[in-house]
Amino acid sequence: MMGFTGRSGKTDTPLAGKDALFLDLDGVIYRGPDPIDYAVESINQTALPVAYLTNNASRTPEQVADQLRGYGLELVPEHVVTSPQAAVALLKTMIPAASTVLVVGGEGLLREIAEAGFSITTSADDEPVAVVQGFSPEVGWPQLAEGSFAIQRDPSVVWVATNTDWTIPVQRGVAPGNGALVSAVHLAVGRLATFAGKPERAMFDVAARRMAVSTPLMVGDRLDTDIKGARAAGISSAVVLTGIDQAKQILAAGEDQRPDYILQDLRQLHLPYPEIIRSVDRDDVHTVEVGKAVVRRKGHVVRVARAGEKIDLLRAGAACIYDSGLKIFGLDVDPALYSDKG
Ligand SMILES: [Mg+2]
Repeated sequence: MMGFTGRSGKTDTPLAGKDALFLDLDGVIYRGPDPIDYAVESINQTALPVAYLTNNASRTPEQVADQLRGYGLELVPEHVVTSPQAAVALLKTMIPAASTVLVVGGEGLLREIAEAGFSITTSADDEPVAVVQGFSPEVGWPQLAEGSFAIQRDPSVVWVATNTDWTIPVQRGVAPGNGALVSAVHLAVGRLATFAGKPERAMFDVAARRMAVSTPLMVGDRLDTDIKGARAAGISSAVVLTGIDQAKQILAAGEDQRPDYILQDLRQLHLPYPEIIRSVDRDDVHTVEVGKAVVRRKGHVVRVARAGEKIDLLRAGAACIYDSGLKIFGLDVDPALYSDKG
């Protein structure tokens, strides 16, 4: 936990000692069609190589790169890592080269599978050795049924899904995502798919290999995909509060979803990360100070002693709770740590 190293920790920026920046897209760079404040200029400010990691399996890297360039980012399609690419990397470790693969999904997935040298089919009658499933708005019952038949044909048939996202937010509301479509097949075949996208480590491995880097920082807005995946891949992570997860989720995060850094917005990538100062007194009161914020824990009771900056208060609260070794439901946490007021 690099961000929480105590008194000896230096006040480096979160990017100090890193050799690349890995970024999630939605909730980090844009929200809906709108760019998030400070994101583009903060990304352009770094001299490190940048990779963009997306679970979205329906768009090609070119389409993603075009969208990001529209916001003012400088990148080529090779800087975009998609869940279909992670699925291909997984498939290569599971089935022989040039095997026949049944594809349930869209253009992005079809192209990656073809470029990897696999032979593509849409029929279970061709006896594919693997089924790969990704989201596309065109996927309907016939494709889901063919996939199910192919998987049932033989227990040795490999089933890889690009990502587990249960829902996708679209213009008119929330719609079923790839996880829901995979679940439909699961109900038919009684088996579980192997997943490739975040929070599995395949995408991080693909990105690190392609860019030839070893100490990246992953920045995302979701603990259950971005942060969990980075941790599974053994790389540092920062959660940024411009998207889905907020103070409440961060304080409650399970051990495998805890970020090294907590950022208000991407400008803080370039600012010294404050020292996390810990102490314990003789009454067994544990104190964590971050900037002017002070949080104390005695037993299962966590209280704000001094508020300070809101982001520092969250950093102190998270460190105090994570240090406790106690589950969030066993703690009495001061609501001032996660309330929206102030
Ligand atoms: Mg996101």
